[in-house]
Amino acid sequence: MCLRFSYSLSLPLLFLFFLGSIPSILTQQNEDPTIKTMQDFSGYPVVEPPHPFVSNSLSVDAQTLQKQIDELSTFSDTPAPSVTRILYTEKDVLARRFIKYLMGLAGLSVREDAVGNIFGRWDGYEPELAAVATGSHIDAIPYSGKYDGVVGVLGAIEAINALKRSGFKPRRSLEIILFTSEEPTRFGIGCLGSRLLAGGEALAKALKTTVDSQNISFLDAARSAGYAKDQDDLSSVFLKKGSYSAFVELHIEQGPILEEEGVSIGIVTAIAAPASIKVDFEGNGGHAGAVLMPSRNDAGLAAAELALSVEKHVLESGSIDTVGTVGILELHPGAINSIPSKSHLEIDTRDIDEKRRNVIIEKIHQSAIAIATKRKVNLSEFRIINQDPPALSEKSIIEAMEAASKELNLTQKFMISRAYHDSLFMASQDISYGHDIYSMLQRLQP
Ligand SMILES: [Zn+2]
Repeated sequence: MCLRFSYSLSLPLLFLFFLGSIPSILTQQNEDPTIKTMQDFSGYPVVEPPHPFVSNSLSVDAQTLQKQIDELSTFSDTPAPSVTRILYTEKDVLARRFIKYLMGLAGLSVREDAVGNIFGRWDGYEPELAAVATGSHIDAIPYSGKYDGVVGVLGAIEAINALKRSGFKPRRSLEIILFTSEEPTRFGIGCLGSRLLAGGEALAKALKTTVDSQNISFLDAARSAGYAKDQDDLSSVFLKKGSYSAFVELHIEQGPILEEEGVSIGIVTAIAAPASIKVDFEGNGGHAGAVLMPSRNDAGLAAAELALSVEKHVLESGSIDTVGTVGILELHPGAINSIPSKSHLEIDTRDIDEKRRNVIIEKIHQSAIAIATKRKVNLSEFRIINQDPPALSEKSIIEAMEAASKELNLTQKFMISRAYHDSLFMASQDISYGHDIYSMLQRLQP
């Protein structure tokens, strides 16, 4: 996204798919105590930009923006400073109402689709042209912070307010998108709204029968929030090709690089291609004392060996951009005196090179088969949950972002986003879901 409000927020920020330069600045030091907190958080002092834009009419109202961020954070199911805002819950609905209210105040025409992606549009003077869009998400995993996603939504609204105050009239329409369920918390799939916008037919089909951990169906949950009213068919959410000429997302960095290096702006040149895999091994189990070592087929050791092989295959790629993580490793029955009869792993692997990432997945698969044979356990499941393509940022947008950063004397750095965001799906009309997202969603049923 295209704001220059980071003087006040003082957060290291990532710009994904930047669309153009809409310079705006903070023109005043701020005494608001929450802003000091943000400075403490980021470690950056608020700096008055020594820049001609100080006298420019384009300026962001950082104080109001900060207040809005703070106000939005109160729509939470856990006490401050944490934020918990799960898809389609009462707090999520209230937060959405707040955003729609602010969009309305900004003079945007607001519409929502069947899953609750929210669009606020400012018509350009050539409204038949494809719009330029920006946005992010406001759902929040349990006990998260108040900036994740939120700066990309509220910041976008303030950017449009700043443009309007300056008298600017856009040629192309500008649109702000609030994406539904960027977080996978409730229904197990991240970037749900943007995946559907990108034409995720398998996902649209799967969602008809998907339920959450409380056995509430996706469609019932959506209806309780006022969406998916009388339709089960979610294909109405799919974007027509060419709906947007560019998309940009402003997001806090979810890694330490910008903060460690004292750089304000990260310009994302590519988003790494994520994939996730679920693996189950099954053995005979048995008593930890009674079954002697030669007679065992330990599902836990198979999982441990596979976890190490994930690391080995990733390191053997020789690429610093290739990563693999076993974030979940569960043993059944989970007793100290019981040989694990079942083990479950969830593996995340990413790379900016999709082919290289797919080679890693295949090697992990081969290792799982070999380990199962060697340890006489059953590889009862090897399921690729998602296998998404990477995205490269548009060169002209990267250049515009760089020019804008320079103009405003902001430190900036080109980087790869290894966390993925809705931008990954906005960049693609052709999303790959791996073999089996449908079955994966079925399996989330209790
Ligand atoms: Zn986020």
